Amino acid sequence: MTVNDDTAEQCSAFVLQRNSLDGHVSPSHYTGRFAPSPTGPLHFGSLITAVASYCDAKSQQGKWFVRIEDTDIPRIYPDSETHILNSLDAFGFEPDDEIIFQRQRLSIYEDVIEQLKQKNLVYACQCTRKMLGSNAIYQGTCRNLALDFNNQAIRVKVSDECICFNDRLQGRHCSNLQHDLGDFVLKRRDGIINYQLAVVVDDYLQGITHVVRGADLLDNTQRQIWLGQVLGYPRLSYMHLPLAMNAHGQKLSKQNLAQALDLKQAPLLLAQVIEALHQAPVELDTASNMLKQAVTQWNTHQIPHQTELIGTFL
Ligand SMILES: [Zn+2]
Repeated sequence: MTVNDDTAEQCSAFVLQRNSLDGHVSPSHYTGRFAPSPTGPLHFGSLITAVASYCDAKSQQGKWFVRIEDTDIPRIYPDSETHILNSLDAFGFEPDDEIIFQRQRLSIYEDVIEQLKQKNLVYACQCTRKMLGSNAIYQGTCRNLALDFNNQAIRVKVSDECICFNDRLQGRHCSNLQHDLGDFVLKRRDGIINYQLAVVVDDYLQGITHVVRGADLLDNTQRQIWLGQVLGYPRLSYMHLPLAMNAHGQKLSKQNLAQALDLKQAPLLLAQVIEALHQAPVELDTASNMLKQAVTQWNTHQIPHQTELIGTFL
């Protein structure tokens, strides 16, 4: 569901109307977050997101929270939560509230699904992966079957309308979810709460106003805006950062064997992140002091607008 010119064109009429919703919140109301998934240890790409979300919030006298997105329990990588928490300390990040863990909040997400059931906005889907085949767009097969919710996947209904947002770095992005995606899953048949739902609910409950994250999540945004809209939550501001790629042009990830951050090299790594984000250099010092200096020099206009950063990263 990348930006599609046809969709962008169909959606253009809506943009002027929607623009006002993407505007800035007054700085004192800025609340940002860093929300890693513990599917592997933090790597250079995750550090870019952590630094940028932190500096963006702190340079606007905002709050910055950390949330561990661990609802997909089978994908949790042993010890990665510990590595994430140790990394935050080693790099001098100071969250403004207790770190929350989504797997401890499953009943909250279940309650939200219950609210959506009451409003007739979700339904049970019995389609297996095999039945869906390679079709990326769900055709609404089970929408009107009124299946029992037990032991089935739960999908939210989308409508034939344009969802647009103006990303602070990546510009305008639009999608018609019905054409580009179809009704999407909020809870899997195995009971796992989908990432999309947990993100939207927690952003709302934590009072998040600004999302700063990697461009790999750009195409999730319209889904999240749609969910927020049906739940009556306020709109957020979005900034999607260029992704660090390895020398082979692959996104840094556990699958591509990205190296775990070496916490003994924290100052050097921070200097590299600041350089990758095209910010003014900071003096080599303790990680905590370097981060403080980066906040005072933070300038979003200097961040590269492309979606990929290619380089040799530690
Ligand atoms: Zn189905």
